Amino acid sequence: MGLQIDIGAIVANWKALAAKAPGARAAAVVKADGYGLGAAHVAPALYEAGARDFFVALAQEGRAIRPLLPDDARINVLSGHMAGEDLTGLVPVLNSPEQFFRDRTTRPGQPFAIQLDSGMNRLGMEPAEWAGLRDEAIAARPDFIMSHLACADEPDHPANAAQLTAFRQMTEGCDVPLSLAATGGILLGPDYHFDLVRPGVGLYGGMPFADARQVVRLSLPVIQTRSVQPGELVGYGATWYAGAATRVATVAAGYADGVLRALSSSGASLYAGGVACPIVGRVSMDLITADVSALSQVPEALDLICDEQPIDAVAYFAGTIGYEILTSLGNRYPRTWL
Ligand SMILES: *Cc1c(COP(=O)(O)O)cnc(C)c1O
Repeated sequence: MGLQIDIGAIVANWKALAAKAPGARAAAVVKADGYGLGAAHVAPALYEAGARDFFVALAQEGRAIRPLLPDDARINVLSGHMAGEDLTGLVPVLNSPEQFFRDRTTRPGQPFAIQLDSGMNRLGMEPAEWAGLRDEAIAARPDFIMSHLACADEPDHPANAAQLTAFRQMTEGCDVPLSLAATGGILLGPDYHFDLVRPGVGLYGGMPFADARQVVRLSLPVIQTRSVQPGELVGYGATWYAGAATRVATVAAGYADGVLRALSSSGASLYAGGVACPIVGRVSMDLITADVSALSQVPEALDLICDEQPIDAVAYFAGTIGYEILTSLGNRYPRTWL
């Protein structure tokens, strides 16, 4: 019952992705509380498996896991050095000249890394900015220099090769470890691996890592079951009417638990022992209704996320991506880490 998180599967996925980039060190991206699955559980397990490089988005996320990891774990903060931030024990990834000079004046001698913009135009120094401080930055010995790909989940997209070329040009002659690939970049092949790879979503069972082991199972308790007669409606807005006599089960989760309202009448189902029970009517704040007519007996719980309907299938029905399904998972149902 509730949300089951298979830590063993996360470790297996990390090892599988690391094995695809044998020339590089494999980091683990645990931002947004380990993609919603609990960084305090995920990060120590991956450290035990051999990971020494971790990435978070914000310094506060880094501070939360710092006490849980031994001193030789490096926790890199992707948002870099924001004014006034406490970065004790963390490694800011400096994204702009402003961050670079702020960091070097307030944390001289402390570890840092650099992010360059190779074309995504989101974070990182532009080529001209980098040219202006490159010598000073290299002299201060950054842990690594990284950039990020905009289209790595589309192997044929021309932006991949263009970003690779730009990254190579900006880092030519820098005797510093380099990092370009997240999950998608690992799968693009060795040209993209450099010295450090940064898998995130693939660890947690998400696309584009098609061979990932599934990590999450979400089982929701059935509160009530009823017979709905032909012509009767189910749920807010009367968006669904029974065409025939239908058994409808109501389960205890809704959009307040991250079960996106877009799943209403989307083709998504709840599952019972491999049998699909289509969601009917609207997902409401705390409740979902499903057609369980196909079941001879309604179990205590129905699965929304399971082998038959993994996170990317749920995402497809909701019109989004697995990342958003994971990071939306709620805290109201019990969580178990296996
Ligand atoms: C989120 C993120 C990653 C991990 O990406 P995935 O696609 O989840 O593997 C790596 N690097 C940066 C800069 C990121 O923002």
